[in-house]
Amino acid sequence: MNKFLVFIFLISFFPQSTLAAQSWYYPVSDFSGRQSLKSFGQYFERKDYVGKEDIFPNQFLGYHAGIDLEASPSELNQPVPVYAVSSGQIIYSGFMSGYGGLILQKLEGDNLVALYGHLQQSGLPKLGSQVAAGSRLAFLGSAFSADTAGERKHLHFGIYRGVGSYYKGYETSVSALNLRWLNPSDYLLSQKALDPVRDYSPTPVPTLAPATSVKNSNPLIRLLVRILDFFGLKLSY
Ligand SMILES: [Zn+2]
Repeated sequence: MNKFLVFIFLISFFPQSTLAAQSWYYPVSDFSGRQSLKSFGQYFERKDYVGKEDIFPNQFLGYHAGIDLEASPSELNQPVPVYAVSSGQIIYSGFMSGYGGLILQKLEGDNLVALYGHLQQSGLPKLGSQVAAGSRLAFLGSAFSADTAGERKHLHFGIYRGVGSYYKGYETSVSALNLRWLNPSDYLLSQKALDPVRDYSPTPVPTLAPATSVKNSNPLIRLLVRILDFFGLKLSY
């Protein structure tokens, strides 16, 4: 009987721990609802910015190496949190020309790095720290401030191949873009990423989750044991 309970204990615990280890999250809540101005791989030249200089004061040219996720008008004076898409180590945290506040995070497992740009510089995580998937990393920088390098309030988010630091927001050729960068929307979708606000659940504490399952199962298990005892069967294997 003890072995049987141990077995129930293990199968009730196993799927939860597996799920938690594989969790991916989007870097902001309402990820798809925020994509409107610049998509991955979109090509921009100077004429694209004519008449929009107030929105795009820094007129970068080339193929956009990430996606832009916009703050809504009602969020312009509200803190907008940015979340870790996966667990992994912070390999850059601080000011970077063209971004303002920038974080580079090594993503667990795949030799990929996530780039989060235009962040509020105060309160950024420490270089070298290990962060959990779905945990809050930072807040978006205020519109047209030093934290956004003079840009509107939005997150520039990219995922590139490699393990070192790389900072480009635009590439000058399609081959350079495809060599280095992944389409972050496609990649997160393939990882079944969750919304960091709506779907967030912290990694379950291993000693609590199974105990609840076993306790809930107890009456049924006892009944099963009694039935098997009645027929002279044993649960010793
Ligand atoms: Zn961008």
